[in-house]
Amino acid sequence: MILDTIKTVAVLGAGTMGNGIAHVFAKAGFSVILRDVEKRFLDRALETIAKNLDREIKKGKVAEAEKPKILGRIHPTTDMTPLGRADFAVEAVPERLELKLAVLEEADKVLRPEIILASNTSSISVTALAAATSRPDHFLGMHFMNPVPVMVLVEVIRALQTSDATFTTTLALCEKIEKKPVAVNDSPGFVSNRVLMPLINEAAYCVMEGVADAQAVDAVMKMGMNHPIGPLELADLIGIDVCLDVMEVLHTGFADSKYRPCPLLRKMVSAGWLGRKSGRGFYTYPS
Ligand code: NAD
Repeated sequence: MILDTIKTVAVLGAGTMGNGIAHVFAKAGFSVILRDVEKRFLDRALETIAKNLDREIKKGKVAEAEKPKILGRIHPTTDMTPLGRADFAVEAVPERLELKLAVLEEADKVLRPEIILASNTSSISVTALAAATSRPDHFLGMHFMNPVPVMVLVEVIRALQTSDATFTTTLALCEKIEKKPVAVNDSPGFVSNRVLMPLINEAAYCVMEGVADAQAVDAVMKMGMNHPIGPLELADLIGIDVCLDVMEVLHTGFADSKYRPCPLLRKMVSAGWLGRKSGRGFYTYPS
């Protein structure tokens, strides 16, 4: 697919990441087909995008007059048929292998065979996902960061089967939506989670072993290492369950004990202390 012929982008899944991905493509002038399974999820996504645009208007990053134009470029649908019009597609459904495989199989049948299909997976092998489609050479990972409209990085992950053309087109497309792509090869956790999650895991070990409490661990990393947010505050933001899942992926993927998930993370997940989303993680969040 030639970069300049990409005008319409399909986004599968209108959740936390999907709405942000739709936002940045629409803001850059692309027509977006936003697909989810129920209308209420699409309504919620459009509300979120409108709110996030208001924030950008306040900061002077988007002109007021642009807001209706940007929103007008997003076409929500619960139907798969409109995906046949897409020139590029990004999958952002929940991080469950069976679900991703089912969604990719369904999308693969409707999307034109020559278009690139990208997955926003944060931990599943893009090589395995590519193999489940009829276009493995036109498949790769496009790992956006949360919140998508704010974070500039896209980790672009090359599957074993990804063609040079697919890879370079996607890198150039990232620039078009004002993101900074970083090229990496498919490997458990890619670079982002392979570096970040062991940091969080080690911080959790410090708390579990009584080396320091959560505030102290975060204070050391913020004041001493200039991190804008402490690893345990970040764990609460990401979700303790998500952190544990990614550590399991690293542990299984490398079969190396250095990635052993911290038992405290397991205990917290069993207790339902999932971080901000459940009101309690390493910190408490009064509702
Ligand atoms: P989410 O649960 O917020 O949203 C997923 C959306 O997909 C939901 O609205 C759901 O209704 C929809 N969906 C389910 N089945 C579908 C189907 N068959 N067709 C279309 N839509 C369907 O999840 P999220 O946090 O946006 O995560 C999406 C992906 O992005 C995951 O792979 C996750 O690992 C990855 N990711 C998440 C983050 C993050 O911080 N949340 C960061 C980077 C990458």
